[in-house]
Amino acid sequence: MKKIAKIIRVFFLIGLLLSLTSCGTNKLSNESTLKRVEESDSIVWGVKNDTRLFGLMDIKSGQVQGFDIDIAKALTKEILGDEGKATFVEVTSKTRIPLLKNGNIDAIIATMTITPERKEQVDFSDVYFEAGQSLLVKKGSAIHSIKDLKEGTTVLAVKGSTSVDNIKKAAPKAKILELENYAECFTALKSNQGDVMTTDNAILMGMASESTDYTLVGGNFTNEPYGIAVNKNQEPFLNKINAALKTLHQNGTYDKIYNKWFGDVAN
Ligand code: GLU
Repeated sequence: MKKIAKIIRVFFLIGLLLSLTSCGTNKLSNESTLKRVEESDSIVWGVKNDTRLFGLMDIKSGQVQGFDIDIAKALTKEILGDEGKATFVEVTSKTRIPLLKNGNIDAIIATMTITPERKEQVDFSDVYFEAGQSLLVKKGSAIHSIKDLKEGTTVLAVKGSTSVDNIKKAAPKAKILELENYAECFTALKSNQGDVMTTDNAILMGMASESTDYTLVGGNFTNEPYGIAVNKNQEPFLNKINAALKTLHQNGTYDKIYNKWFGDVAN
């Protein structure tokens, strides 16, 4: 009898635990992000902190700066008004979706390509930036294009990025070394841990502008359209983001921000 009572108790506890955890998840996914950001008068954006031109921490000011940051600030003002506050939380390519899904951030604006696989987990805004994957090498390197990545070539890329999947397809014989973030990846290239680094052209341009010994080669071999990601079932928030993006294009703010960051490097 005692044994049966014990078994019943264990089942009861498991049931209780399961219902508690599912309550937790439902609560998060049912909660309206738009309502929350309007009530708090702030939007928490997941951004890169180590990617020059898009999101880079400036040690002196303690502020993160870049194209994604300025677009996020402008979107926040459009959605919440002049009093609205943009708050920034650091993400990497690997951590951005988990941080969004567990409610640490309201949206991701972090050099993130819209892909069908990612669309299964999050929803994306309209495209706000067009990039393409390319290669960065030390000047004088024997690598001039994707065709030169052969057996024995070590390619550096960042975990959780589309760059890893794309390069595996484009250069199946090469060895891929995956680093945690873009700062580590560029450091690895500079210390000869790899022959070439690969990611989006615009990110590589930021590195080439920082160190003139490095250059992009071979042009783009993929299309990487960037989108802002929000959690699933948050259409009202997503619609606000898309409407705000449209306004930034119409009133010249987008072009102003674009020229501020890419006016020099893109030409
Ligand atoms: N745009 C690519 C991606 O979303 C590479 C840049 C990044 O790692 O954020 O994966």
